[in-house]
Amino acid sequence: MMSAKIIDGNAIATELKHTLKQANAQRLTQGLRTPGLAVILIGSDPASQVYVGSKRRSCEQVGFKSESFDLPESTSEQALLALIDKLNHNDEIDGILVQLPLPQHINTENVIEAIAPDKDVDGFHPYNIGRLAQRNPQLRPCTPKGVMTLLTSTGVDLHGQEAVVVGASNIVGRPMALELLLAGCTTTVCHRWTKDLESHVRRADILIVAVGKPNFIPGDWIKQGAIIIDVGINRLENGKLTGDVDFDVAKEKAAWITPVPGGVGPMTVATLLENTFYAAEKLHLG
Ligand code: NAD
Repeated sequence: MMSAKIIDGNAIATELKHTLKQANAQRLTQGLRTPGLAVILIGSDPASQVYVGSKRRSCEQVGFKSESFDLPESTSEQALLALIDKLNHNDEIDGILVQLPLPQHINTENVIEAIAPDKDVDGFHPYNIGRLAQRNPQLRPCTPKGVMTLLTSTGVDLHGQEAVVVGASNIVGRPMALELLLAGCTTTVCHRWTKDLESHVRRADILIVAVGKPNFIPGDWIKQGAIIIDVGINRLENGKLTGDVDFDVAKEKAAWITPVPGGVGPMTVATLLENTFYAAEKLHLG
């Protein structure tokens, strides 16, 4: 039996960052300014600190301007909205990222909707989700867009493929389904109320899992020759990171599979930079 080819998210993300670095250098020779990304972190959640750190570092790697706002857990919604308003009007800022989750006392929807849609590099604003739903995407959610880059890297024609998304969150599952529809897949979305998850997974040519439970998808459910994208990031008691798919068994049946770590995670960060560049290049011409 053949073992699956690994979709190397680290390598593909590095390549994208290299392209962005060169494109930025090109902008500078044309007298254009460097794209600017504001990253806002409220509180001190350890996982959020790791994600924010990697976003800021990657920004600097490609030569973009990164502005950091580290605010205390006690920050009021009003103060956060005031900061966003200021950044919305700052001509050197192309992207505004507010790291989620936010503390309980802040209404996440109010915050997402306060970001100017043309600076919403996370792509969560209803305007940008609506554009994606209507097949005219503008700024697209980073994780699903990064997954599309990974799928494209396999060279497999996506049209007419049976795509199954497990997980239906606003930030991964739902926009993922919209991306797959846009790419011509026949798309099914499974979630906690789905009856007989196994039957859906077994017929998936393309399986995207974003649930957040280690080894949630048994390897023997995987269809022979499928493409498996594991979005899950779970920290085990021994400190190791693992995905939602039983990788060791799944890789014996799949044609392509992403590892965790080193699959979707680095691609999400590189796609954030891609969105920031897009905002600078296409949406902020003045
Ligand atoms: P979430 O908790 O918001 O959503 C989980 C989804 O899983 C829900 O839609 C729920 O209905 C579904 N679900 C739960 N139990 C289920 C079951 N028994 N059967 C079928 N579906 C079930 O999570 P999220 O924010 O979408 O994140 C999911 C995972 O992806 C987490 O591990 C998270 O850390 C990871 N993540 C990774 C990246 C990345 O860049 N790699 C980005 C975002 C999230």
